[in-house]
Amino acid sequence: MAQHLPPEELLLDYAAGTLAEPLSLLVATHVTLSPESRRQLRTFESIGGAMLDSVEPAQMAPDALESVMAKLDADADAAVGSGLAERPRAAAAAGSQETVPAPLRDYLKRDFDALPWRERGSSVAEFSLLPDYPGYKTRLLRIRAGAKIPQHTHGGGEYTLVLEGSFSDESGRFARGDVAVADPDVTHQPVAGSEGDCICLAVTDAPLKMTGPLGRILNYFVDM
Ligand code: ZN
Repeated sequence: MAQHLPPEELLLDYAAGTLAEPLSLLVATHVTLSPESRRQLRTFESIGGAMLDSVEPAQMAPDALESVMAKLDADADAAVGSGLAERPRAAAAAGSQETVPAPLRDYLKRDFDALPWRERGSSVAEFSLLPDYPGYKTRLLRIRAGAKIPQHTHGGGEYTLVLEGSFSDESGRFARGDVAVADPDVTHQPVAGSEGDCICLAVTDAPLKMTGPLGRILNYFVDM
C-alpha cells in the first residue's frame, strides 16, 4: 500500500475537478493504487455534498446538484475500476511486469516495455506525455536500478508517482503508488532501488535546476 500520499489540497482539487490535466492524470493513477486516497476522496465528496445542501437554492445553477452527482458517480466508477486494476498486478507479481494502471493506460495504450523511450544518458530514459499541454511537463521516467538522478532543486512544483520499482531521496523511500512532492525549497538526489528499474510519472510546472558539482554543465545540456 502506498505510504506517501499526495497533499490533501491536491485530492481536494481533484475531487472538485479543477486540476490541470497532467496533475489530474497523476492523481487518478495514484488513486487506483491507494485505497487510503480513495477513502479520502469519498470523505471530500461527502463534505462537498453537505456544503451543497447548506447553500441557498437560489444561488445554485439549476443543474448543480445533478452535475455533482454525476461527478460522484464517475469517481465511484473510477474507484471500482481501480480494484480491477490491482488484480492483474497480483497475477503479475510472480516476476513478470506489473501492469499500467487504468487511467494511465488510456493515455499510453500499451505496456511500459512497448513505449518508444528516449534515452537521457546511460541511466535515465523518458517518454513525454501531453507534450502540448501549456505550463506543465509530463513524462514517464525510467531510472536504471541503483542509478542516481543528478542532484537538483526545482523552479516550481514537482509531482512524482512511482509505478514500478522504487526510489529513495532525502525524504524517504517511494514505491509503487507513492507520490513525492518537491518544490523550490527541496534539493534532492533520487536514487532508484536496486530491485529493478524505477518507472515513475513525473509532472513539473517549471524546469528543474541541477545543483551538483556538474550542475551548470548539466543545466546547459539537459532539458529536465
Ligand atoms: Zn526533484
